[in-house]
Amino acid sequence: MLKGKVAIVTGGTRGIGFAIVKKYLDNGATVILCGSRKETAEEAVKKLKQENPEYKVEGIAPKLTSPEEVREAFEYVKKSYGKIDILVNNAGISARESLYDYKPEDFAKIMDLNVNAVFNCSQAAAVIMKEQQGGVILNTSSMVSIYGQPSGCGYPTSKFAVNGLTKSLARELGKDNIRVNAVAPGITNTDMVANIPEEIIKPLIEAIPLKRIGEPEDVANAFLYLASDMASYVTGVVLSVDGAARS
Ligand code: NAD
Repeated sequence: MLKGKVAIVTGGTRGIGFAIVKKYLDNGATVILCGSRKETAEEAVKKLKQENPEYKVEGIAPKLTSPEEVREAFEYVKKSYGKIDILVNNAGISARESLYDYKPEDFAKIMDLNVNAVFNCSQAAAVIMKEQQGGVILNTSSMVSIYGQPSGCGYPTSKFAVNGLTKSLARELGKDNIRVNAVAPGITNTDMVANIPEEIIKPLIEAIPLKRIGEPEDVANAFLYLASDMASYVTGVVLSVDGAARS
């Protein structure tokens, strides 16, 4: 479904991002995955190449919160691979502090990666996509971007902002043939949720109509559809992939 496409996936070293990278590679794309460190990016590439030596994949580690580093990295990708068809803004962090204990610097840190980095990457990619007359920008939002969550207000706030960027950029960039969409996963089986205590996770699962948490591949399938030409008239959408969870 993505034969000949060039994709950048941030936070591609593990979890949901790694599943997206693999899904895109299996569908014929060349993928440049971004990790927070060069070593973890290279490890992820090594793991993928061991699975399939034919995969066209490279790992890089620009500081996503630095507009200059992002611009340089994306220009490098364009120079090396000729274009950028797909950008997936997936890197993200979460926290669950109560408002009473929340340090302002921790709130700023979440916003910096979950929102400012999405802005930086979208801007750098859009400049290149406009020149080449088309592209797709996809963001990883979250179920909490619709309902909020009862602690750790920084994380849902950042994901509400991601939805805002998604819908606004879809309207602004449509004229340049750039589609912008988001996927809003529910609880998904990755490191991000691995440390949530059993007594919190159990009632959450009971409240999910499909009676299980999501797997990274469930989410990656949505990212495949939205990146592909199958979604050629879909833009400005936040697609829930959450088993109809509503909390
Ligand atoms: P994860 O912790 O397994 O992976 C996070 C990824 O982000 C990693 O690749 C990591 O290298 C990268 N990252 C973290 N800090 C970074 C930094 N400072 N600079 C660059 N990269 C950095 O988490 P995940 O569950 O796979 O989360 C991926 C995305 O999915 C996030 O945006 C998260 O908010 C979202 N999400 C996750 C869930 C869930 O239940 N797991 C639910 C909804 C949304």
